[in-house]
Amino acid sequence: MDYQAVLEEVAAFAQPLVGRGQVADYIPALAEVDTGHFGMAVADVDGGVYGVGDWERPFSVQSISKAFSLALVLAEGGDKIWERVGTEPSGNPFNSLVQLEYEHGIPRNPFINAGALVVTDRLQTLTGDASTTMLEFLRAESGNPDVSFDATVAKSESEHGDRNAALAHFMASYGNLDNPVSTVLEHYFWQCSIEMSCRDLALAAGFLARHGLRADGTRLLPRREAKQVNAVMLTCGTYDAAGDFAYRVGLPGKSGVGGGIVAVIPGRCTLCVWSPGLDARGNSVAGVAALDHFTSLTGWSVF
Ligand code: GLN
Repeated sequence: MDYQAVLEEVAAFAQPLVGRGQVADYIPALAEVDTGHFGMAVADVDGGVYGVGDWERPFSVQSISKAFSLALVLAEGGDKIWERVGTEPSGNPFNSLVQLEYEHGIPRNPFINAGALVVTDRLQTLTGDASTTMLEFLRAESGNPDVSFDATVAKSESEHGDRNAALAHFMASYGNLDNPVSTVLEHYFWQCSIEMSCRDLALAAGFLARHGLRADGTRLLPRREAKQVNAVMLTCGTYDAAGDFAYRVGLPGKSGVGGGIVAVIPGRCTLCVWSPGLDARGNSVAGVAALDHFTSLTGWSVF
């Protein structure tokens, strides 16, 4: 496969959509990002990395961090996490509260905000420092020691974090958090504020294409748990658009309101695309179109 040629063709295809959609202005620091960016990277399981456009420019990973926190909790604590969070699509927006009451404080899945808060709580208990654990993992897997938090974004989110605070307090009332709500929120906001490029993210998610093996060949996850993360990404990684994403792209994927999407082709490669304009459900407009075109051109969906 001539990845570079495919990426150039995908970028040309997506270009008319770049700038469409809205930035996530409920986090004021993200509202300042220019919607004119587009970048895309592929990291294959043999170590090759290819990119196009703004593929080396860091952006706010936001909810893409939820795939890494889930993997780290599975690595540290095994599948006990599934007693605290489900594996079903929610069919609701990522920050919705409505299902939590009748499901007794157990979120539908780890990729909506409620579920990610539970996962962060577990990571904090298992490691003593959830956000630093994730940062160190991302630096190691991407090979980029400069990956870091953006304190401005973390602060902005914390100052406008009433909805996440409400979700966390509500779950705490059901006993589904071990750490103080303030601690869980702090680590969650720090994780979301991490800045990485498409290149960094495609490399860092490589363990999902390698069935659980890290970049250095050591095992992060058993194959079964790598399968679980990919499966939940497919069914829940793009929230209430997961059905549409599976239909169009046909890959496990995890989006973030910074405009990034990571997608996995198990056994072959990982992809990351970034373009900040979002659709109404919080997924990058040009990003989804680019992934759709990539799997259409290559025939490499999981279907
Ligand atoms: N940090 C964002 C939030 O909690 C993440 C949401 C997202 O990327 N979908 O709202």
